[in-house]
Order: sequence, then structure tokens, then C-alpha cells
Amino acid sequence: MRLILLGPPGTGKGTQAQRLSDRHGWPMLSSGHVLRTEIQANSEIGRKAAQYVSAGALVPDEVITGVMLAAVAKIKAGSGFILDGFPRTVPQAEALDEGLRAQTRPIQGVLDFQMGDDLIVKRIAGRRVCNRCGNTYNVEFLPPKAKDVCDRCGETLVQRVDDREDVVLTRLKTYRAQTAPLVEFYTRKGLLRRVDSSAAAPAVEAEVARILASLGEAG
Ligand code: AMP
Repeated sequence: MRLILLGPPGTGKGTQAQRLSDRHGWPMLSSGHVLRTEIQANSEIGRKAAQYVSAGALVPDEVITGVMLAAVAKIKAGSGFILDGFPRTVPQAEALDEGLRAQTRPIQGVLDFQMGDDLIVKRIAGRRVCNRCGNTYNVEFLPPKAKDVCDRCGETLVQRVDDREDVVLTRLKTYRAQTAPLVEFYTRKGLLRRVDSSAAAPAVEAEVARILASLGEAG
């Protein structure tokens, strides 16, 4: 399936994207991971994006849209895919729509991850990421097998600079102002499905599986 995972930061989209990818073999594209990799490499895109990412603001639409559409175009024909963190604004969603229409592979479902802000702040405080493969963990809720070591690739885990509480609050505001309008955008297209992501990861995974089954039956 071709899916978008929507929702505020810290609601477990990355974790579920990874699980869906592992289970079905659909490649996942995480815009945040793509940008962090570019920033680490100090590429032209990385230099354009760095100040926005560290402040918890969105990078300009034209910067991220070009990168993500190029990445989607590289996914082989006939394969499903999962977009995590993109699109984040209505112009990005429109550009994605147009790009996918040209490739005759429209989005089939948009999962909207929901949980209260208190829990989001708590979960993000414990989040650790692998900058090499992009896998995410939580010291309390989803710890790695060995402390601070990525289960998947062995890299040392780190805390993201934008996971500091003051930046998180800015990111939540940014989400409400610029990304929340996508809920209506995709509701109008009949694609939006709500996911209560306040439960533990395996329960959320089961809910996502039920939703995908119903999307498959519908479409
Ligand atoms: P994330 O890992 O999805 O929380 O993204 C981390 C940061 O990367 C965000 O706070 C933004 O600064 C930037 N970013 C990620 N995806 C996008 C996007 N689709 N549009 C603009 N900025 C983005």
C-alpha cells in the first residue's frame, strides 16, 4: 500500500513506519531522517535546512518537496511505500498529489496518529535515535537491547537536538498551525483514518493492521 503517516511529533509514526516496512517490505521514507542525514553531511540541502530543524520550524516547501519527490520516484514501480513526516503543509500535499498522479500511483491511505500533548512531551524526552539507520527508541517505553546501542546496526544512539523540551513545544505549535490542516485535506479525499497512538507500540501496530485491512477491502 502507498501510505502517509500524519500526526504531531512524538506520536510513534516513525516506530510504526518501521514496523510496517519490516512486515510488508514497503520502503519507508522519513523526511526528518533524510534532512538529518543531509545536515550531517553538510550538503547544500543540509545547509539550507539546518537552522529551521534546530529551531523546530518547517524547512521551506520547495527544499523538502524536491528531495522527497525525487526519493519517491526512485521506488520501483508496483511497490508500496510509507511516507513519514511528509507532506507537512497543504502546498507539499498538493505537490505530492501531482507528482504521484504523474506516476499513476496515488496515495491509498493516510493514518492520523493522535495522543495528548502531555504524553507527547514525556515520550519525546525519552526518545533516542540512530543517526545511521534512522531507527528510534525510547529509554522508558521502547529501550534498545543494549543501552544506547542501535539493535539494527550497532551505532551509538543519540538524543536529537530538537527533542529538547523548549524546541518540542515550538514543534507542536508548528504542527497545529501548518500541518493540522492536512487532516481536512485528506478527510475530503476520503483517505484519513485516525489511530489512537497513546497505547504501547504492539497495540498500536495491531490497530494499524486492522485499519490497513479495512482500507484494502475498500479499495
Ligand atoms: P521529524 O523527524 O519528522 O520530527 O522532523 C524533524 C524536523 O525536520 C522538523 O521539525 C522540521 O524542521 C524538518 N522537517 C521534516 N519533515 C519536514 C517537512 N515535510 N516539511 C518541512 N520541514 C520538515
